[in-house]
Amino acid sequence: MNKGPIALNDCDLPQLEELFQELGEKRFRAKQAFRRIHMHGARSLDDFTEFSLALRDKLKAKEALPLLNCTESSVSSNGTEKYIFESPEEVPGRDGVRKRIFEAVWIVSNGKDERTRKTLCISSQAGCTLNCTFCATGTLPFIGNLRTYEILDQIYQIQNLRQERITNVVFMGMGEPFHNYDNVIRAARILNHPDGMHLSARHITISTAGVVPAIHRFIDERQPFNLAISLNHPDPEKRKALMDVTEKHSLSELLAAAKRYGKELNRRITFEYIMIPDQNMSDQDLNKLISIARHLKCKINLIPLNTTLHGWRAPTAQEITGFQTALRNEGILAFNRGSPGKDVDGACGMLALKSLKARSETDSKKELLYAGHNAAPTGESPEGAEGSAGKNTSPAAEAAAMRNQRSGTGGL
Ligand code: SAH
Repeated sequence: MNKGPIALNDCDLPQLEELFQELGEKRFRAKQAFRRIHMHGARSLDDFTEFSLALRDKLKAKEALPLLNCTESSVSSNGTEKYIFESPEEVPGRDGVRKRIFEAVWIVSNGKDERTRKTLCISSQAGCTLNCTFCATGTLPFIGNLRTYEILDQIYQIQNLRQERITNVVFMGMGEPFHNYDNVIRAARILNHPDGMHLSARHITISTAGVVPAIHRFIDERQPFNLAISLNHPDPEKRKALMDVTEKHSLSELLAAAKRYGKELNRRITFEYIMIPDQNMSDQDLNKLISIARHLKCKINLIPLNTTLHGWRAPTAQEITGFQTALRNEGILAFNRGSPGKDVDGACGMLALKSLKARSETDSKKELLYAGHNAAPTGESPEGAEGSAGKNTSPAAEAAAMRNQRSGTGGL
């Protein structure tokens, strides 16, 4: 891989200290650089005004501050806004180079205390190696893990563009955060750092489809961030058909890890549950879900299905209320998360780089705008990535087939 200059905005404080030491500079310079980048939003080494010109030149020779390129944004009718970003880095692929492209979504809502909550839903990967049958991101080619600065710059750029500060961050955009554990945790720790944005750890949520070993690591390391698990089905076999991650990490292992989280960290885990009529909303499913929730310290965020893959439909208002009320009647904390941003393809599970421009031009063909010309994952395999070969469960296989088919089309 190309060994270019070191990205200063990719480093946490200890890494910067090491770097400045190697340059023969004083240790406190590292903290100054860290604050410049993460507290004051430096966009270039010229913004390091407390550094002499000579030191800035010395840095420029070896170090860099790469920034994302925000290529497009689209506002939804309720104020939710979706942004598309392109990485400055080129990644070698089978048919030449391509860039990581990914999305972030700005969501405004009212918090418990009636204060406005400004949440940014950010991506951790460009594409995803998982094939959750209901999720449009899974149909995209996987291009790679996002680096720490690519995760953080989604937040910094959107704050700059909007001239307002976020109150919450959720790792629920494209990708599986726990397949990019190190970069995701480093980014979350930088966001939480008193010399950075100092965002409360309780306002940072990481969501996983169920990468069990990473959940145990998260607990072992006593990470202070909220953890959410996309449960989506209470039955082991049916969950496997819905989410291929279950083939590698069973539902019982996942629930054991969720239980351990509650016990050892004394925190309530969040389960996300997409409501998909005819798939996971029967009385039997409801009873299984109740029995799971009763044995754990948890709350359930219900999400109405947003996509139309496999001809599945969204639940009606009546079905949603019925499901939520049934859970609440059993004393379970269950909330309806709704679907902000659906009209700009910015709601959960809809992040598939479908650009507004492309949509209006090709809506009839239902084409998607893709990041690259080739679906083959690059050599940059995600930590613990699970391959998708050998699957034959129907919707999952269908999703994989869609992905393969896309790879041959050359995108738009
Ligand atoms: N890979 C991580 C984070 C990305 S998905 C995870 O699975 O948790 C973020 C959330 O969107 C998850 O809770 C997922 O279950 C939900 N989601 C995915 N596709 C959806 C869809 N089509 N409709 C509604 N929610 C969806």
